[in-house]
Amino acid sequence: MHDAHFARKIMLALEDKIDESDRSKAIVVHAKLSPFSHVTAESLDRALHVILSETDFKDVRLEITPAEYGVRCGRCGREYREDKTFLSKCRFCSSDDLSVDKGLEFYIDYIEIF
Ligand SMILES: [Zn+2]
Repeated sequence: MHDAHFARKIMLALEDKIDESDRSKAIVVHAKLSPFSHVTAESLDRALHVILSETDFKDVRLEITPAEYGVRCGRCGREYREDKTFLSKCRFCSSDDLSVDKGLEFYIDYIEIF
């Protein structure tokens, strides 16, 4: 289950970066999730809060934005960044001869404490 795996990554990052005295504060985790990851923001949020319910963290919110990935067109040769879930045609020439560099499935962008 990828959502549990990503949720554990968030948990480890929180434990690493947030001092114990700050763990009851409002925390926002900004993370990027690839459209290819087969994990939704909702399922990741659920998985994270199951883990967090057994910790000192009281108020953690997850802000997920789509991670960009690289696209290269086999017809016009252009390379560009894309973040749409469903990719069918080149943005420039409408060819469907595309190769995709999926990059990272998930990463934490930054964490805010309020
Ligand atoms: Zn093209």
